[in-house]
Amino acid sequence: MRKPIIAGNWKMFKTIGEAVDFVNNLKTETANIKDVDILVCPSYVAVNKAAETLQGTNISVAAQDVFWKEEGAWTGQVAPGMLIDAGCKYVIIGHSETRGRFGKVDDDMTSGLLAHFGESDESVNKKIHASIKAGLKPIMCCGETISERKENKTDEVIKQQVETGLKGLSANQAANMIIAYEPVWAIGTGEVCDTQEANRVCGMIRATVKGLFGDASAENIRIQYGGSVKPSNAKELLNQSDIDGALVGGASLKVADFVEIIKSA
Ligand code: PEP
Repeated sequence: MRKPIIAGNWKMFKTIGEAVDFVNNLKTETANIKDVDILVCPSYVAVNKAAETLQGTNISVAAQDVFWKEEGAWTGQVAPGMLIDAGCKYVIIGHSETRGRFGKVDDDMTSGLLAHFGESDESVNKKIHASIKAGLKPIMCCGETISERKENKTDEVIKQQVETGLKGLSANQAANMIIAYEPVWAIGTGEVCDTQEANRVCGMIRATVKGLFGDASAENIRIQYGGSVKPSNAKELLNQSDIDGALVGGASLKVADFVEIIKSA
């Protein structure tokens, strides 16, 4: 039985003070919930205070990204060991807002393309290895764009992202990480993926993991759905056989909404 995992990705929202207020409220509201893994993902500058505030609770802290080097002249980057030192247990890797297969900067989102930071499947793979080595649990995001879906390339694109992202891991390492299926067109748009289709793609991801690492890894790995999850649709999504949790953006910014989604799990 896989334990549900609900993560709130705050993106570039919340100051340190706001993050501390939020987690103080969240820990009161979720004090009795033991059968769900709860994560908050603040900005780099707020992870340490959030982790300090959450010490001894059932809520963990994740960073939103990481670099794969241990240290060095890498201006602006944060090493896996630094995240451990700051109190993180998990890290999001390969979010569509950091991936770069569109090769285009689009500040106003006029094209509907969210990728700005040049992340590739290969850099995702390096980050996953470095994070596991340091003791972090990676949450690897994957997902197709709307044009890839329209061209019937969804499965092909996601298989490629999973195969390259998880390359070189042991079966045990794969079993203990998390994959988030996040269709790019559903992120921040209010447009949620059809429940059965989300479950089908999560099942296809599990079958890919099985092909790479065997039955036990496929049975153990937790696969989240992400993309416009909100209190009104969480229960149905989280009831699906291959969906083990949610990666929540917008709806994780308000304690009441986030708590309702956690309770749906
Ligand atoms: C996300 O940031 O990973 C996400 C799924 O955002 P939203 O829930 O706002 O669509």
